[in-house]
Amino acid sequence: MICPQCGSEHHVKNGHTYYGKQRFKCKDCGRQYVEGSQYQHISEETWELVDRLLLEKISLSGIARVTKISMRHLQDYVNKKGSSDLGV
Ligand SMILES: [Zn+2]
Repeated sequence: MICPQCGSEHHVKNGHTYYGKQRFKCKDCGRQYVEGSQYQHISEETWELVDRLLLEKISLSGIARVTKISMRHLQDYVNKKGSSDLGV
């Protein structure tokens, strides 16, 4: 199980949903999620938006709020892109 919010694998069991699915709580960010949740898939368009926001010098936490992409995911993306490319 991977947290859909931050990608962490650290979680505690946190009861069951109404439908009987195991519910987990992320130890890192506190997000609750249920068994079967997928790690978010992010579309090309969303990454293009991220690029534009980065160029506007919007902070990563701001971008995370706007795009609903997890901080960890954004950080990975920025690292992969390389900071020189973004002029940061
Ligand atoms: Zn988390």
